Amino acid sequence: MLVDTPAHTDVLIVGAGPTGLALAIDLARRGTDALLVERAPALSPGSRGKGLQPRTLEVLEDLGALEAVRAHAAPYPPLQLWNGGRPQREQRMFDAIEPTQAQPYTQPLMLPQWRTQQLLHERLRALGGRVAFGHELTALAQDEHGVSAEFTGGHRVRARYLVAADGGRSTVRTLLGIGMSGQDVDPQPMVVADMTVNGLDREHWHVFPPTDDQAGGATLALCPLPGGQDFQLLARHPGAREIDLTLEGLRATVTAHTHLHADQIEAVHWASTFRARTALADRFRDRRVLLAGDAAHLHSPAGGQGLNTSIQDAYNLGWKLDAVLTGTAHTSLLDTYEEERRPNAAAMLELTTAVHHGKARRGRATAQLDLGYRQSPLSVETRPDLPEDALHAGDRAPDGHHAGTRLFHTLHGPHWTLLTVNTDTELPDAACPVLRIPTHQAYGTGVFLIRPDGYIGWAGHTTHGLTTYATRHGAPIG
Ligand SMILES: Cc1cc2nc3c(=O)[nH]c(=O)nc-3n(C[C@H](O)[C@H](O)[C@H](O)COP(=O)(O)OP(=O)(O)OC[C@H]3O[C@@H](n4cnc5c(N)ncnc54)[C@H](O)[C@@H]3O)c2cc1C
Repeated sequence: MLVDTPAHTDVLIVGAGPTGLALAIDLARRGTDALLVERAPALSPGSRGKGLQPRTLEVLEDLGALEAVRAHAAPYPPLQLWNGGRPQREQRMFDAIEPTQAQPYTQPLMLPQWRTQQLLHERLRALGGRVAFGHELTALAQDEHGVSAEFTGGHRVRARYLVAADGGRSTVRTLLGIGMSGQDVDPQPMVVADMTVNGLDREHWHVFPPTDDQAGGATLALCPLPGGQDFQLLARHPGAREIDLTLEGLRATVTAHTHLHADQIEAVHWASTFRARTALADRFRDRRVLLAGDAAHLHSPAGGQGLNTSIQDAYNLGWKLDAVLTGTAHTSLLDTYEEERRPNAAAMLELTTAVHHGKARRGRATAQLDLGYRQSPLSVETRPDLPEDALHAGDRAPDGHHAGTRLFHTLHGPHWTLLTVNTDTELPDAACPVLRIPTHQAYGTGVFLIRPDGYIGWAGHTTHGLTTYATRHGAPIG
């Protein structure tokens, strides 16, 4: 048994990064018994994944964390390119997408990852959950009833399911022998640091491209982080030299590639190195163990998708674990986690690698609003001859307004939702919210059963087949 924690739990979540925290929140609001363990003594510092994409904002809204996020986050500043100490042109990082009632959030927000984690942790605590810090998983064994995990100090925990949210170097993935194939997107190591910089405005993300005599050398960027005076330094580092992360070392890196003087770099609060890599785990599941977040996929930071894809994993998994644990759905529901998330992660990896090499823009695809699960066995579309661009089963359920309130206010929460649009078809009994609206441009016409994670599970012109679908997948209908 871990200090102050139970020896048994339904879901053992290993790792309190964004993935583990988001999953713990989703399970806590469902009342699912879960234990979140973290090897470090506190949440990780550092601004690392600072971009929250529009679809993630919707997820955070559902998890009850968006208001706090918005209070601390800021829109992305425009890029300011520099050359020879002179400001050049400005550039937008992301393509502008018009917000509509169906998609209210279209621009990403910037928030240092340490703050995102802090806010998720606060939300978890408000729901009665907590993180068991200072416990490192070192071994695990599975049988048909559960997973036995061992931690430093010989402590043991028995769980019905284990979720590996333990990051790119996942101990759990290694212990299970699950391969991860991928490649370096850039052979040069990168330096990332949070630092106080004087003499640069905070309205721009300052980018210093390589000069001609730095062939293959350094692009360096300094981005003002919201909620303080820090800038995030991101710099390609010539691999030949040892990377010096001290104040003096980072001053040397910055002054070598910008017009800034050493004493303008006043302090370094956190610094790390990494190699931009793209990699995908061969499997996302091994019997009672599920991989999520960076443990399952690694992205180049260029596309700003790693943290977002990780939170989407957690959001996809939470309701499925709960439904299987409560017996409302068959255990095969958990198979759909890998079926849905692995192809999605693969597509996002392609996108982030293309963005890294300047071959794709940061536009609709990086917003993740069009991401969905049409090919999933969980998506049943019974309306014939729908045009490709019409809303299908498997797609994200759009927001909208009805009777003075947002659809998301009904959709959000741990439940399924039964929605009809422009039809008075008789409905079976439902122990979940039922909403009948006369018209909605994006939905068109039909009966829609919307999953707890906000995707359309089943769609039809009539309810024929709805109850069978609902019974199989744990929706309280019929
Ligand atoms: C420079 C940089 C910039 C980035 N920019 C972006 C961006 O703009 N947008 C974006 O979406 N993403 C970005 N990312 C990626 C983002 O940081 C990761 O995708 C994200 O942290 C993944 O979250 P996670 O919870 O899966 O893993 P992590 O954040 O790595 O968390 C894993 C946790 O598990 C713990 N742990 C590990 N092993 C064990 C064990 N054996 N027992 C117990 N606990 C354990 C670790 O201590 C850690 O706290 C960036 C990353 C970097 C490095």
